[in-house]
Amino acid sequence: MQMNVQLVPFLIACLLSTVYSEDSEEFCYNSPGCNATTWPIAQLYCNGTRQSPINIVTADVKSDSNLTAFSFTGFNDSSTLRNINNTGKSVIIDLEGKKMSVSGGGLQNTYTSEEFHIHWGNGSSFSGSEHTVDGKQYAMEIHILNLRSDVSVAAANDSTAYAVLGFFIEATNDSGKPESWKNLTSFLSNISKKGDSFDIMNQLTVDSLLQGVDRTKYYRYLGSRTTPPCNEIVVWTVFKDPVKVSKDLIDLFSNTVHINTTADPFITNNHRVLQALNGRVVTSQPTSSANTTSSANTTSSANTTSSANTTSSANTTSSASTLHHTLSISTALLCYVLFWCL
Ligand SMILES: [Zn+2]
Repeated sequence: MQMNVQLVPFLIACLLSTVYSEDSEEFCYNSPGCNATTWPIAQLYCNGTRQSPINIVTADVKSDSNLTAFSFTGFNDSSTLRNINNTGKSVIIDLEGKKMSVSGGGLQNTYTSEEFHIHWGNGSSFSGSEHTVDGKQYAMEIHILNLRSDVSVAAANDSTAYAVLGFFIEATNDSGKPESWKNLTSFLSNISKKGDSFDIMNQLTVDSLLQGVDRTKYYRYLGSRTTPPCNEIVVWTVFKDPVKVSKDLIDLFSNTVHINTTADPFITNNHRVLQALNGRVVTSQPTSSANTTSSANTTSSANTTSSANTTSSANTTSSASTLHHTLSISTALLCYVLFWCL
């Protein structure tokens, strides 16, 4: 059989479209046919054995007297927050690493702060924290990412490259409280579209966003990034006390920022499903020990009306990837038929 040379570019295009469609499984949360249950399959590290987030079972937590108080630098400095950004997946606040760092707290090194971002559900009625404690899911969760100060880029196999500080947000029935969160959420209307960025320098401090949390009480375990490629390079700290934020402010996250343009849906439920513990041990401070010098302000964690709900993660799993592969195979078949017929 003689091939028509005019068909060569067409056939190459066919082949490329088949190959590239395998890699186009973009990380996403709850687009139709694409959510947190589909992307682990395609990614290098997301099927690993020390993945995050996890459910923390308090009865299984082991005590560790090395988990002392942290030292926070620049957390009370309003010039450390630079821009608030809409990534289409979350809201991320860039931090000034030269001024902001964390050490102590059982960490072996000083870690330089890079950014913090937030995971939420859908309004204050559908919780969206990533970690849960004894099955309780909080309204939202903040992650402050800190890179070990002796490296400039995290190597894929550097098991302690990042120290991530996780803080739960619990919904209250007040309105417009606390003032720091009223301030932070007032900027959301400036970043309604993906790619939007807004300068917030000298407007608020990280400390003010974490008020009410006793930062000497936390859980520690080794885990991963909760977004692809899910590198297993994180020393996790999850603080026990939640920050309390009024429902009206929590609602603003899921009704102000869009996944792309303002014609597209809002970002909602941007939290990963819980991952298996796989024998890992979660540690915390010995309950009886009096903790030494703490820079945190202690507030009694009265567990009022909890915003917990049962984790309802969409289980549409494999149907999306099945459709994906069917389309790829169909494209390939069409190419071959055209090749032999023309
Ligand atoms: Zn996160």
